[in-house]
Amino acid sequence: MITDAKLMRCGGCGADVFKLFTADRQARIAADCQGCKSVSYIEPVPARLGIAWDDDSLGRLTVF
Ligand SMILES: [Zn+2]
Repeated sequence: MITDAKLMRCGGCGADVFKLFTADRQARIAADCQGCKSVSYIEPVPARLGIAWDDDSLGRLTVF
């Protein structure tokens, strides 16, 4: 039983009952709201690289 997470609900009707389906790609799951039949897709988002300043640096990596 999950006790330390917030319950997710449909943003349209507020229902909390869904049926899960495989979607058009193997990496994507479709969640079908059983209240209003809205469909949400659960899928991984590719990681993005970020460039940040180091505390002791005068500049950071950039494109000229
Ligand atoms: Zn709904």
